[in-house]
Amino acid sequence: MISFLFLMLLYFLPAILGRDKSDATGIFLLNLFLGWTLVGWVAAFIWAIASDRPHYVRYVPVSAGHFCSQCGTLGPAGAHFCGACGRSV
Ligand SMILES: [Zn+2]
Repeated sequence: MISFLFLMLLYFLPAILGRDKSDATGIFLLNLFLGWTLVGWVAAFIWAIASDRPHYVRYVPVSAGHFCSQCGTLGPAGAHFCGACGRSV
C-alpha cells in the first residue's frame, strides 16, 4: 500500500511540481493522460520545472509627448491639442 502511494506520488510528480504555474491545468492533463508513456511524463516534468514565460512590459517613452487627460492618447511633444479628442493638453 505504501509503495502504491509512492508510485502515485512519483507518477503525479510533474503535476505536483507545476501546481502553482499558469499552465498547471495543461501540465496536469498531460501528466494524467500521457504520463504512462515515459515521453509524456518527461515532457510534463520538463514543463513543470521550466520557468514561466516572462511577462514583457511595454515601455512608453514618456518624454516624447504628453498624454491627454481626457482620453489618455499619447500626443506628440509640443502639441497643444489632443489629436484624438481635440481637447487642449
Ligand atoms: Zn484626448
